[in-house]
Order: sequence, then structure tokens, then C-alpha cells
Amino acid sequence: RLRTLSGIQATSDSLHLGNYIGALQQFVEQQETHDAFFFIANMHAITVEQDPALLRERTLRTVAQFLAAGIDPEKSTIFVQSHVPEHTQLSWVLECTTGLGEAQRMTQFKDKSAKREKVSLGLLTYPALMAADILMYHPDVVPVGEDQRQHLELTRNLAERFNHRYGRTFTVPEAGIPKETAKIYDLQDPTAKMSKSAASPAGLINILDEPKALAKKFKSAVTDNDTVIAYDPERKPGVSNLLTIYSSLSGQPIDAIVTEFDGKMYGHLKVALADLAVETLSPVRERTLELLDDPAELERLLAIGADAAQAIAEQTIKDVYDRIGFLRR
Ligand code: ATP
Ligand code: MG
Repeated sequence: RLRTLSGIQATSDSLHLGNYIGALQQFVEQQETHDAFFFIANMHAITVEQDPALLRERTLRTVAQFLAAGIDPEKSTIFVQSHVPEHTQLSWVLECTTGLGEAQRMTQFKDKSAKREKVSLGLLTYPALMAADILMYHPDVVPVGEDQRQHLELTRNLAERFNHRYGRTFTVPEAGIPKETAKIYDLQDPTAKMSKSAASPAGLINILDEPKALAKKFKSAVTDNDTVIAYDPERKPGVSNLLTIYSSLSGQPIDAIVTEFDGKMYGHLKVALADLAVETLSPVRERTLELLDDPAELERLLAIGADAAQAIAEQTIKDVYDRIGFLRR
């Protein structure tokens, strides 16, 4: 069986539709065919300032949303990044494998650092930690959204560089980025990525939004002055984004949806999409709230996941430390 691995940051109360479509939906599919590892990236979260109580709460909320979306702890190893301290050990080694210029060229670093006054060193070294998260477990595929393509490419380069220097140690993973659905845009600014940290409140569809709020956001989505429902991301980013979302939630190809709405108005598409989104996300929301009633059970599952993950991580660190010439203690 091939192995899949991915993570999501614990940076908000609710995951958003971009996370759901770009990441979670793929996780749920891949656990059926792959040996699967999914983690909550709480260490990545602190690259920007976090409130401790909120970070704790959001970590559990994120686990609950993983489970509610259909990630099955019987099929997947689910764990919290900081529970496996080997991630920081490997991260240091990979920081020493990464060039400063290489890290500074990452667009996520450029975007996120441009927006803040205080920029932590961690925001710069983020991709080395991400490479460590991945290479630790030798996955064959890493399902992520389009925005993570550059980090994945760096991860592959670091794996190859290390293997070349020290002998074959890491699997060079493929990026699992689905073609059309890999980037969901803000409904109010359809040229900007829907994002936990940067979207406009009205343009951000949260998994945990109440059905009414969800429907309202879809109905007030920004489109254009034209009236034709067509898929054309360059000229019609708003409508194209709605079509992409419709397609990923319904499983229908975009062409079929365009045909179905031929001659209809934008309002029809928005209402149909709002209904579909409520139908898809309401059960996830309800299940998440149920799961959050029993945090002890979530913590129990996370402890099992951490043990399983750490068993692999220990082996990787041993191997890496031997190869780079660290004396055994
Ligand atoms: P932040 O703004 O804090 O970075 P985020 O919304 O980008 O948060 P992450 O936790 O960084 O969320 O990303 C988790 C996963 O979701 C990654 O695989 C990422 O590629 C994917 N993802 C994030 N936003 C989108 C989006 N708008 N469309 C598709 N996939 C997305
Ligand atoms: Mg992100």
C-alpha cells in the first residue's frame, strides 16, 4: 500500500471550504486506498502569534472536524504535531540543508511577512518544518491545495539533496494536487485564496457556519456584470469559483453543471449552491459539535495516533542522525 500524509494548521475555530475541498475531501478518499497519516499542525500555527487557550481549543476543534468530515481513526493515524517531538529534530537538520535564499523565495513567506510588523524566524523556516513533517514518514503522496505546491517542491528538493549527500534516506513524495479544485477563492474577492488568516468574513465559508449564515454568504457572492454562467477563471473569477465549488461538492464535472444552468441567472446558481453546501456541511457541523462534547475521547484518540506516528519518527531520526555523523548516546 502506498502511504499518504498531510496536515492542517490549528489556526481558527473552524476550517473553511478551501480546507474542506483542497484537503479534507482528499484525505477521506485516500484513507480507503492508502496507509494514511493526518496531523494537526500546532507547531506551524505558532509561526504567527497565538493565544495559548485558543490554540489548545482550536487543536481539539480541528481534530473534531477531521473526524466529522469522515477521517476514520481505524483507517488513518491522526495525531498532533507537537506530540511527536522528532519533528523539531528533523526540522533542524533540514534547516541546515536549506539555503537562506531558497527559504526567502517562498511566496507564502513573502505574503505572510509582508502583512505583519513582527516577522518571526519560524515564518521563514516554516517550509523546513513542513519538509520534516513529511519526510519523517516516507509518504508517497501528500494531498494539499495549490498554495502548498512550492513548499512541496522544496520538500522534494531537500529529500533529493539529503539522499545525494548521505545515501538514500527519504522517499521523494509526489504532490497530490487535484487540477481544478485545488484552489478555492474568497467569495467576496475571487482573486484571493480563501484563507483562515486572510479572507474577508463575508467571503470565508466556514465548515461550522450556521446554515443561514452559509446560505447568505453564497447568495451575496461577488460575480460580474455579465449574465452568462460560464467557466472562465481569468475573465469570470467569481462565477468560475462558484462552479468549482459546486463541482467538488456534487462530484459532477464542471461542463455538466454549466449545461444544467444554461440560460439561467447567477441567482439560480447561487441558491442551488447554497442548498448543496448546507446539505454537505450541516452534518459535518453537527457531528463536530457532538464530538466536542467529549474532549477526553478526542484526547484518547490523539494519544493512540501519537504513539503510532512516533514509532516511525523514532526510526527516521535514528537513521538520519547516524547518517549525518551524530554520535549515538
Ligand atoms: P492560514 O491562512 O493560517 O495559512 P489556510 O487556510 O491556508 O490557513 P492551512 O492550514 O495553511 O490553511 O492549510 C491546510 C490545507 O488546506 C493545505 O493543504 C492547503 O493547501 C489547503 N488549503 C488552504 N486554503 C485553500 C484554498 N483556498 N483552496 C484549496 N485548498 C486550500
Ligand atoms: Mg496556509
